[in-house]
Amino acid sequence: MAVAESKAVTTCKLLVGGDWVDSAATEFGDINNPSTGELIAKVPMGGNQDVDRAVRAAQEAYYDWAETPIVERARVMFRFKNNLEARYEEIAKCVTREHGKTLNEARASVQRGIEVVEFACGIPSLMTGECLENIARNVDCETMRHPIGVCAGITPFNFPAMVPLWMYPLALTCGNTFVLKPSEKVPMSSMLIAECLMEAGLPKGVFNIVHGGKDCVNALLEHPLIKAISFVGSTNIAKYVYEKGTANGKRVQAAGGAKNHIIIMPDADMDHTVQALQASAFGCAGERCMAGSLAVPVGKAAEDLIPRLVEATAKMKIGRTDDGGNPDMGPLVSAEHLKKVTGMIDKGATEGAKLALDGRTVKVQDAPKGYFLGPTIFDHAKAEMSIVKEEIFGPVLSVVRVENIEAAIKLGQECPYGNGAVIYTNSGRSAREFKRHFNAGMIGVNVGVPASMAWFPFTGWNNSFYGDLHIQGKEGIQFYTQQKMTMTRWFGEPTQKKFVDPVWKTKS
Ligand code: NAD
Repeated sequence: MAVAESKAVTTCKLLVGGDWVDSAATEFGDINNPSTGELIAKVPMGGNQDVDRAVRAAQEAYYDWAETPIVERARVMFRFKNNLEARYEEIAKCVTREHGKTLNEARASVQRGIEVVEFACGIPSLMTGECLENIARNVDCETMRHPIGVCAGITPFNFPAMVPLWMYPLALTCGNTFVLKPSEKVPMSSMLIAECLMEAGLPKGVFNIVHGGKDCVNALLEHPLIKAISFVGSTNIAKYVYEKGTANGKRVQAAGGAKNHIIIMPDADMDHTVQALQASAFGCAGERCMAGSLAVPVGKAAEDLIPRLVEATAKMKIGRTDDGGNPDMGPLVSAEHLKKVTGMIDKGATEGAKLALDGRTVKVQDAPKGYFLGPTIFDHAKAEMSIVKEEIFGPVLSVVRVENIEAAIKLGQECPYGNGAVIYTNSGRSAREFKRHFNAGMIGVNVGVPASMAWFPFTGWNNSFYGDLHIQGKEGIQFYTQQKMTMTRWFGEPTQKKFVDPVWKTKS
């Protein structure tokens, strides 16, 4: 049982060595249903003791798992995929309950996670090495990929199922063992998914879960048995994790925050653009690292776009997501996050941007204690304003109007982040200029959220990523493996010579 029943509320357990066990923690955090504010579970704020226990279990399981034939490791993933599909709706509901996103958004995020498992099923082809014969006389060379040992994953609140699934299906099929520390705000989806993994026949100790916040992360960053850390979260913490993890000799990939620019050219298909921009900025209540949070209409595009966007967005239905309904937008994850985002809106208004739509007044009648904020649009924002420079991570779209595409690309150069950027246009020339010169790692052309799918790496740039090898795709396989080169020489005359020598042929 992943979550222990007690009289008051449920308490999350750790997964260590294949068993659900109690944490040694003395402090516990609250997990609230964002739609109602109701306390639904407690999460232990673990530290060194929990981490050491889980890491040792992972280390103990490592050698047998690494020696397990790769096709057998792949078969565990096939069964895991089946189990995830069988419990798809249950997992999506759990995501909605602890995070607050709509059920359709939760379903889509679980589907994206399952796609990583599908990718990992192909590990026998993905992990092959290279070979070159006769690199010198009688000498052959080959490279092979080996697992690296115990790996850890530290994940954010915004995709409780999907982001952890970016990491461990690849790490495990490469032959590593894993310790996951999900976000302390949304740990329950990961626990449910872990049941699917254990039921798929994964040996005990190969996958483990610990809970907590800063202390737990520090314990992972300092543990000598951990060889690699995958992190996804805000930029400040990503930088911290990268610096501390690498200083402790670990391989680290750390994805951070973002400010994704959406450029709209006057020749764009405006019906499509309004719809896509709305979904990009306000989908998942803006709590997406690939949310289009800054619209940059070029020239006359703003005249057409902004009134239509404001009108369509004002009609969005905001409501609770935990009762089976599917509103256009649900609540934010927590009261604390709601306060932070509201504070940034207050600041934007003080700085002088024009509030074309103010979500601060939104109320949801049947859920007065939920963490709701309506979609908010700032028009006539300026490059130096905080709402343009900083990640807000809520349903807030800032609009900076510019004269030409060069000015739009320049605004991108000034952005410290570099996750994604999108252009809406019907001009191949504008699209090409943008693709080649915009300062971000994931580019969309007439695509609202160009987030890499499982088969491609999640290629954030600048302060949106710290490390060398990105998460997912073939870079994910490289991250979770180390290469070994073997050079072999066998002495003697090459046998082939006998077959091509006509003298030898006539003699026989
Ligand atoms: P966060 O940085 O607060 O937390 C992420 C993880 O770090 C959590 O597991 C948390 O427990 C841990 N953590 C928090 N504070 C810490 C500290 N002081 N020391 C050590 N560890 C700490 O992020 P969040 O609020 O959970 O998630 C939102 C952020 O994640 C946004 O900035 C978003 O852009 C980013 N994100 C990025 C991507 C990407 O691929 N680039 C994807 C999803 C989310």
